[in-house]
Amino acid sequence: MADDYYALLGVARGATAEEIKRAYRRQARELHPDTNPDPGAESRFKDVARAYEVLSDPERRRRYDRYGPEGASAGAGTGTGAGGGNPFGASGGLGDIFDAFFGGAGTFGAGGGRAGSPGPPRGADLEVVAELAFETAVFGGEHEVTVRTAVACTTCEATGAAPGTRPSACTECGGSGQVRRVRQSILGQMVTAGRCPRCGGMGRFIERPCPGCRGEGRRLDDKTYTVDIPGGVDTGSTLRLTGRGAAGVQGGGHGDLYVHVKVAPHPRFRRQGADLVHELHLPVTRAALGTHVPFETLDGVEDLVIPRGTRTGRTFRLRGRGVPHVEGRGRGDLLVQVTVETPDDLSDEQEELLRRFAELRGDDVAPAETGFFSRIRSAFK
Ligand code: ZN
Repeated sequence: MADDYYALLGVARGATAEEIKRAYRRQARELHPDTNPDPGAESRFKDVARAYEVLSDPERRRRYDRYGPEGASAGAGTGTGAGGGNPFGASGGLGDIFDAFFGGAGTFGAGGGRAGSPGPPRGADLEVVAELAFETAVFGGEHEVTVRTAVACTTCEATGAAPGTRPSACTECGGSGQVRRVRQSILGQMVTAGRCPRCGGMGRFIERPCPGCRGEGRRLDDKTYTVDIPGGVDTGSTLRLTGRGAAGVQGGGHGDLYVHVKVAPHPRFRRQGADLVHELHLPVTRAALGTHVPFETLDGVEDLVIPRGTRTGRTFRLRGRGVPHVEGRGRGDLLVQVTVETPDDLSDEQEELLRRFAELRGDDVAPAETGFFSRIRSAFK
């Protein structure tokens, strides 16, 4: 039965091309898996399509009449089928070609891939910038983003058809959204597939468009999503939220949402990869004599010991007090870089002591500025 193409289409052997076409359209409409819930409909639909493929082409119909199904698939490959010992080419059969063009079973509603699958295309990918607090980027957390996006129309449940009506399968492509053309080339018959010109690849038609969305099956709306921010992200990181992009027309799937991270600066720390850097300003006295600094990390206050004789540029490393690695374990370090401050606001008594200090060290210093104007000048520096 599956090999009797005339029986499959329900036409007589002597049927005209027009009769064959009409029979195929009627069957395709009835059997298309998008509209026919019967689990057996899909394979019957494929059989019917295979039969029509052959019988609609005069040359292949002639060969089918003479040799049967094997003969009809002769030379109907993609150009590689001609040759070999088989007079009809080394084609793996029409089913293989059909599957190759249409992505196999997935094409007919069984999950369906994205590229090349029939029906409405998925919606656009969207992008949004998430401006994160410094701590959120370091430790992770939740962050809300709002995007102007396309959402499914609730009036028509995304079909685009007015309530109470349904879209009908395209009669040109039988709802697949794709049409195959067989043409002659120097390599034999070539089968090419392309977007159905009648429905534009949608596979269906809407007679009465939904008044809520004018047949789009979607409408614009502001959507707020809560994004799970993994600890360790930084400015330039991008998170992808699968299926949070715009809805496609007439029930087409959602695109993805790309969230670009922008981290607010911190008053005391800057990021250096997974490390945090803080510049610690110390007066020369504390740096020279050594001191303790109650140092506020992101995890709480720690006692930072500054040894005597610490110079500008010296870096103290607080291990594991940096940023978590966004992928993997552990955290970076907190680097405390010392800058020794020179006092420029000496009182008379302090200056006197410092001059005494210089004298003891044998340091050559400028003479004291005693004039009124030099005092004023330094005040405005
Ligand atoms: Zn609608």
